[in-house]
Amino acid sequence: MRYAVLSDIHANLEALTAVIGSLAGQQIDRYLCLGDVVGYGADPVACLTHLTKLDSLVVAGNHDQACVGRLDLSWFNDQARTALVWTRDQLGIMDLDVLRRWPLTADEDLFTLVHSSLRQPERFIYLFDAGQMMDTLIRCRTLFCLVGHTHLPCFIEYDRKHHQLLRVLTGPRAVSPVAFTQDSDLRYLVNPGSVGQPRDGNPQASVAVIDTTALSVTFHRVSYDVAACQQKIRKAGLPAFFADRLSLGR
Ligand code: ZN
Repeated sequence: MRYAVLSDIHANLEALTAVIGSLAGQQIDRYLCLGDVVGYGADPVACLTHLTKLDSLVVAGNHDQACVGRLDLSWFNDQARTALVWTRDQLGIMDLDVLRRWPLTADEDLFTLVHSSLRQPERFIYLFDAGQMMDTLIRCRTLFCLVGHTHLPCFIEYDRKHHQLLRVLTGPRAVSPVAFTQDSDLRYLVNPGSVGQPRDGNPQASVAVIDTTALSVTFHRVSYDVAACQQKIRKAGLPAFFADRLSLGR
């Protein structure tokens, strides 16, 4: 099976359609999405529609949860809050219903999906350090734990028996393609990076493809029409910062 792993689309339709287009020749069997489909960008409804068409398995991110009242807006900074109030106004009853159905965690095949961490998924902490990553991997019952939230691509290999990190690959250049082993003593943490708001200094959209037959994880970067996306954000009256940062990938 070949899985495409998408995260943090953030209502960026230009990035999402470019990513889906780039995967068209990749023989993808199943789409997995790690949340934050909406928030920041100007196309929440269109992104939801695309995701629905892909029949993707989706877990909820903090922005998705906030739109349906499951996370208090005080959790966010002023600009993010402004974008969320705007986003909520764009979404119809059916859209909100879709968001409401997404769980905080989901399991399928070799994968556990969660937006932030397995310790307390509802708190949306950021997995920045090795200790927090191991804490999530200890709780993971499948070979892979797929996470988003930081918008930074990474691949971590963890040996459960010796409580040791064997490989920590971060950054877009260092991580692709990489092999994995189906061994019950091992756990892998993969963050595919962000489709709609990359923050690792590379403005290209980020996506991971996991091949469970070839036993490989490949990180792809995809160029998209950043200027068109920025124009929409500004025209919608959303904070200009969310447009500006897309050119920098920060
Ligand atoms: Zn996000």
